[in-house]
Amino acid sequence: MEHKIEPLYDGPLFRNALQTLEEGAKLINCDPNVLERLKRPRRAITVSVPVRMDDYSVKVFTGYRVQYSPTLGPYKGGIRYHQNVDLSEVVGLAALMTFKNSVLGLPLGGAKGGITVDPTKLSRTEKQNLTRRYASEIGPFVGPTKDIPAPDVGTDPQTMAWFMDTYSQEQGGFAQPGVVTGKPVEIGGSLGRNHATGLGVVYVAEKAFEVCGMNMRGSTIAIQGFGNVGSFAAKFASERGARIVAVSDVSGGIHNGDGLDIADVMEYVKTHKVLKGYPKAQPISNEELLEVKCDALFPCALENQIDTHNAEKIQAKIICEGANGPITNSATKILHKRGVFIAPDVIANGGGVIVSYFEWVQDVMSYFWDEDEVNGRLKGIITKAFDKGYAFSKEKNVDMRSAAMAVSVQRLEKAMLLRGLYP
Ligand code: GLU
Repeated sequence: MEHKIEPLYDGPLFRNALQTLEEGAKLINCDPNVLERLKRPRRAITVSVPVRMDDYSVKVFTGYRVQYSPTLGPYKGGIRYHQNVDLSEVVGLAALMTFKNSVLGLPLGGAKGGITVDPTKLSRTEKQNLTRRYASEIGPFVGPTKDIPAPDVGTDPQTMAWFMDTYSQEQGGFAQPGVVTGKPVEIGGSLGRNHATGLGVVYVAEKAFEVCGMNMRGSTIAIQGFGNVGSFAAKFASERGARIVAVSDVSGGIHNGDGLDIADVMEYVKTHKVLKGYPKAQPISNEELLEVKCDALFPCALENQIDTHNAEKIQAKIICEGANGPITNSATKILHKRGVFIAPDVIANGGGVIVSYFEWVQDVMSYFWDEDEVNGRLKGIITKAFDKGYAFSKEKNVDMRSAAMAVSVQRLEKAMLLRGLYP
């Protein structure tokens, strides 16, 4: 079905999200008034972010914060720094956050932020100036009970530390750790948050292997993206006996059919910044990585990587979506027809926001858990979401993405009907 979308919000990621929303809503006979409301963000904030550069010139960047749905709790979602960020992408990502937080059973609404900037081209000082001014510009709209940002592509714990400090200074200087998650542990971050998305991907992949009658131990896995999600997914999967045959980042990919030594690759990236030039593997392109022979593929980079042009060429039997929206809807249909099992993003990459939720809870309590407790609780929540989605998919004989969306929309629908419409 073609959607009429507010022109400023229109883009491929949001279109895909709306289509999956529609599919999920149909499966539960969702109230049409609820569906109508779920198709739009509550509000989209655009800010200009002037930054003093190292050469004393001033550059003005554009930043966004899209607050999609507050129904289930405070808005929650990451902040992306990337040269391709635009309003429609942030709206799409904010919609996905809403559906993700709902299917995971978290008491959180959905949001997303971003700045159109290539952060690799900024110095540390410029990045700090950019983050502080952005935090100040969206400051009136965020807060521990309002909207709680977190890291995403191009941002990290240091970015969150600057954000938290700026917000706290503007609140009179009193520390407000609960305003963002993904902070360094020294200032109220949670143990286990940094690796949480990658670990969650692996917990979900283990379940996917199980329901497909396969085993992660001894399997072969290819991973696109070697940032915070892909590198930790590679580490945890290889520790569980999988052979990681290929990984990639912006500089390209590396392939070794015998399996890569992930600790060694991580060490290489620490010193060389990128994978390019890693000696104990053959170089391949990002495009080729998606098509290598493997049992499972984890796309852990950006959206729209698997489209109709390459869906037929994917060799993996399982795809676990570490990224948000890595497979377009048309490609999803092709892959399903070919019998590929897709663990959808809203569940598969939920580990990040689950441990963000734990971090926020710990900040509010001012009482912090040990890492085993964090990892154990993460496994509990993400496995439960997978099981719920899988049970629905079996009961209604539908794919996992539609099932996950159905479960997600059902929870949102109940809450929206209970809260009613103001005024
Ligand atoms: N950026 C991550 C995501 O897309 C984490 C969001 C969060 O922790 O709030 O799920």
